[in-house]
Amino acid sequence: MTPAIPCNLCGPTSCEEISNRDREGNTLHTVICTACGLVWTDPRPSNEQNRKFYAEQYRLQYKSTYVPKRKHVYRETLRAMARYQAIAELVQPGMKLLDVGSGAGFFPYVARQQGIEAQGIEPNQGFAEYAGETFDVPTTNAFFQDVDIPEESFDLITLNHVLEHVEDPCVTLGQLGKWLKSDGYLVVEVPNIEATYHAPHNRFHVGHFYNFNPVNLERLGAKAGLAVHASKLVTGEDHIHITFQKQALGVSRSEDDALQGNYQRVSEILRRHTTFRHYASVVPYARFLSKQTQYRAERRAVRGDASPREIADALIAAHLDMPARLVA
Ligand SMILES: [Zn+2]
Repeated sequence: MTPAIPCNLCGPTSCEEISNRDREGNTLHTVICTACGLVWTDPRPSNEQNRKFYAEQYRLQYKSTYVPKRKHVYRETLRAMARYQAIAELVQPGMKLLDVGSGAGFFPYVARQQGIEAQGIEPNQGFAEYAGETFDVPTTNAFFQDVDIPEESFDLITLNHVLEHVEDPCVTLGQLGKWLKSDGYLVVEVPNIEATYHAPHNRFHVGHFYNFNPVNLERLGAKAGLAVHASKLVTGEDHIHITFQKQALGVSRSEDDALQGNYQRVSEILRRHTTFRHYASVVPYARFLSKQTQYRAERRAVRGDASPREIADALIAAHLDMPARLVA
């Protein structure tokens, strides 16, 4: 069949429908490109509907509140520290870092505590204000697509679980590439369509327009003028974590070879990951147990009357030598 939206990597192409439901059981049509294996929502809400959703409702729907509770401060600070550990080898004090989709500012705050000149862009007004007021993180309250930033402004740009939400990932990568200094790095992390930690019926989310695997995300970067400096999977959930550079600096992969067999590979993984196999495996139970351990630690940590910033500072001070969460 022909999709309503052309493949973001191949352009006009043919596709197959692989799902007609989202994780809530609502109608959501998801297709896979038979040339490159990219998976996307087709059709999807209009850009206007989409932006209204992110500016006003998205964080509420996810977290029930604009202002993070103390246990969320604890959790998000740990996540931000893990993100920092993952890029630690790239950073030097005084570097200029931009976090796109910076939420309540935890990650730029951790980076600033390490001597990085970090700032954020965040479309949600409540979270952008919180980042400024609680953590003194300079945060532009806007969609990054609308922000006017001079070319070659940043040493490091981070895009953490944002690219799957945008209408045009290729244009996004190209825009962020322009904001990058010639020897800078763009670090992108997204969910991996090949990961099997979600039950099959939980796979597709109305907010996730695109579902990548490492091969087609690397190729998308190449189309946007970026080359791969490093490509890894995050331990546990198998998220894709790619560090891009401008094309002249990184490794260019052969265009034809890279996508060969990728559609078949992704289709096969999706077909094999059935509900029965999922619950017969140890994965869901291990996830449940580790969540219970985490919640107990959070409850212990947020007793008392420490402010959000004191909770974050104590964690940062206690865990500076935390081991990296990534494997090659
Ligand atoms: Zn394609």
